[in-house]
Amino acid sequence: MSESCLFCRLVRGEIPAGIVAETDECVAFRDINPQAPLHVLVIPRAHVASLNDATDAAQIGRLSLLAAEIARREGYAESGYRTVVNTGPAAGQTVFHVHLHLLAGRDLRWPPG
Ligand code: AMP
Ligand code: ZN
Repeated sequence: MSESCLFCRLVRGEIPAGIVAETDECVAFRDINPQAPLHVLVIPRAHVASLNDATDAAQIGRLSLLAAEIARREGYAESGYRTVVNTGPAAGQTVFHVHLHLLAGRDLRWPPG
């Protein structure tokens, strides 16, 4: 846990969040600046700054499985969705608590910007 980390504060309930799913290890909530009709961030409750610092394969894997469950629940399993983890400055990571973006509800271009 990190005292000042934005997403740790969100996990502790210190800042408001549109939570869509919670498990023992993960929290999923709506992105404050959505880039698609469905834009959810899935994070581990435990503080991990980025994929560069990740060591627990199960913890990181659960982010993807929870994203898939939310996509299914929201009706995007068949039409499709994208999951993305930005790591470091070149990828535009702005919050240094690892998070999986789940994007759906519009055509997503490839390659991404
Ligand atoms: P990244 O650029 O991959 O680090 O993504 C960070 C994401 O966190 C951005 O998409 C932001 O819009 C989102 N974000 C920042 N602050 C909040 C917040 N308080 N609640 C929900 N999403 C947030
Ligand atoms: Zn954190």
